[in-house]
Amino acid sequence: MEASRGRSPVKSDCGDNTIVAMLPKPYNLFMKCTVADCEKQKRGKLYCCMHYMRLKRRGSLNPPPMRSAKGAPVEFLMQHLNSDSPDCILWPFSIAPLGYGCINYKGRTTSPHRLVCLWVHGKRPRRKMEVAHSCGIRKCVNQNHLRWATREENQLERAVHGTSNRGERQWMSKLTRENVIEIRRLSAAGLSSYEIGPRFNVGSKTIRDAVSQKTWAWLD
Ligand SMILES: [Zn+2]
Ligand SMILES: [Zn+2]
Repeated sequence: MEASRGRSPVKSDCGDNTIVAMLPKPYNLFMKCTVADCEKQKRGKLYCCMHYMRLKRRGSLNPPPMRSAKGAPVEFLMQHLNSDSPDCILWPFSIAPLGYGCINYKGRTTSPHRLVCLWVHGKRPRRKMEVAHSCGIRKCVNQNHLRWATREENQLERAVHGTSNRGERQWMSKLTRENVIEIRRLSAAGLSSYEIGPRFNVGSKTIRDAVSQKTWAWLD
């Protein structure tokens, strides 16, 4: 009687541990998220809901950038509007992928330098004109550095500033200047776009565009 106390009521010939191992594991609902200092319950293998979604949506566990207080971006522009400072005034709020500022003004998303240019210099004098930065700093909103310019003037100026988006600086470019020279050489030597593509890890269309000068037209 005494000897059987504390022993599990196992009758079959496999041990208790074997049976436990065959049962489903307890759901780890009450375990904490593995991110340091996060007190939330984890819902998946590693993270709580919030951290899981952050990682999924933004690719990072860090908190998203603070949203600027409503109206603060416009206020910032107004404050600096009549500045006669020769220095760049850098946009402290959100920045679009190309490095220009981003602002929501009366329900429209635009760039702050464009807004400043409109306020200070009025409507663009001709169609297709764009805002040029005389300083070459994309997130600068100093009105003294901004003016309307034609696309050609702007491109020329960007080349001088080294902020040109030609060729490999182009956001989507998969090829370098050297690649394109080599591709055109190979094509002239009689290779097809299907033969050249794999050498540069790009599709045949990219090769044809580079050869026909649909892209990289300025390079010859
Ligand atoms: Zn968490
Ligand atoms: Zn500037």
